Amino acid sequence: MEIQMLDLKGQYQNIKDEIDTAIKGVIDSCHFINGHDVDEFSKELGKYISSENVVPCANGTDALQIALMSLDLKPGDEVILPAFTYAATAEVVALLGLVPVLADVDPGTYNILPADIEASVSGKTKAVMPVHLFGHSADMEPIMDIAKRNNLYVIEDNAQALGARYSFSNGAGKYCGTIGHIGCTSFFPSKNLGCYGDGGAIFTQNESLSQKLKMIANHGQRIKYQHDLVGCNSRLDTIQAAVLRVKLKYLNQYTRSRQDAASRYMGLLRNVDEIVLPKEELYSTHVYHQFTIQVKKRDLLKDYLESKGIPSMIYYPYPIEKHAAFRTRVVKRVETPNALRLANEVLSLPMHTELKVEEQIYISETIKEFMVKNRR
Ligand SMILES: *Cc1c(COP(=O)(O)O)cnc(C)c1O
Repeated sequence: MEIQMLDLKGQYQNIKDEIDTAIKGVIDSCHFINGHDVDEFSKELGKYISSENVVPCANGTDALQIALMSLDLKPGDEVILPAFTYAATAEVVALLGLVPVLADVDPGTYNILPADIEASVSGKTKAVMPVHLFGHSADMEPIMDIAKRNNLYVIEDNAQALGARYSFSNGAGKYCGTIGHIGCTSFFPSKNLGCYGDGGAIFTQNESLSQKLKMIANHGQRIKYQHDLVGCNSRLDTIQAAVLRVKLKYLNQYTRSRQDAASRYMGLLRNVDEIVLPKEELYSTHVYHQFTIQVKKRDLLKDYLESKGIPSMIYYPYPIEKHAAFRTRVVKRVETPNALRLANEVLSLPMHTELKVEEQIYISETIKEFMVKNRR
């Protein structure tokens, strides 16, 4: 048994013929840039998550950057984001000369605390960027309320939760990425909908914003060689779009595999007192991009698992404010004790669409064995 953190090879083997045919189709056509599959995939993805508009782009970080560029913000304007997230969320803010303002996260869902957003708003705040970390939605209803009252844009970083749904208190539901003014996602190979290279997309329900996002991603031009905005060059490759069209058909199945694996972990690890298991709030489905536990002796457990042939990963070992790149650039108007603690205690266990029951039993037994050896 060779346990993997992520099994892209096993997943590919199961859809090899379809993928190979799709890639060969693009090569035969030689339409490598903006080919037929890019358009078709954008339409199919829009249909899948019920988004009026989908703007494909080169990767998830570009998606976030283009989203911010479309809002006409000025250097020094503030953007509120979670203190515990992947660096890209803060990076694009800093890159554009905007100020990342950090809010703490909920220790159960790992997502930004609405009360901290409210407490962090200043006269310069222009936008909020909630991240649906590890596959669970941030609490969007209060976030949208706060944004409305304070006239803020909401950009969802949905790189990790494509396919997750948020439920509003009136019973209505929406897919993550389609709730804020703009939603961004990534098709990095390890994401829930991953391609075979880099890729990303931007969602919006606002037609004029969609036109502007498209222009920015295309050198600021609507008409060829007529550049109205300072944009960038950010395209989804046709080959990647062709791969994504195949994989989108399996996304629901992949999500179910992840959810099944998660509920098996939950059962197997339920009685291990030293571990905090991921929390699912009633307002969100969980698509388990990661299965992330919290444990005090995190580094010792990680080493022990490794010695038993079990990979695990620390997402993320540092909160945003600890990185040399952001240390002097971030502003905090609230304390962020949860983010600081989580960086020391989180551990993500193997989670992918091909994970086997025997593997999960072995992983769970090994964790229990560690706990017995390290009691007191
Ligand atoms: C992966 C990821 C990104 C960036 O996506 P890329 O396609 O790698 O640029 C941004 N935010 C979060 C939360 C991510 O997980």
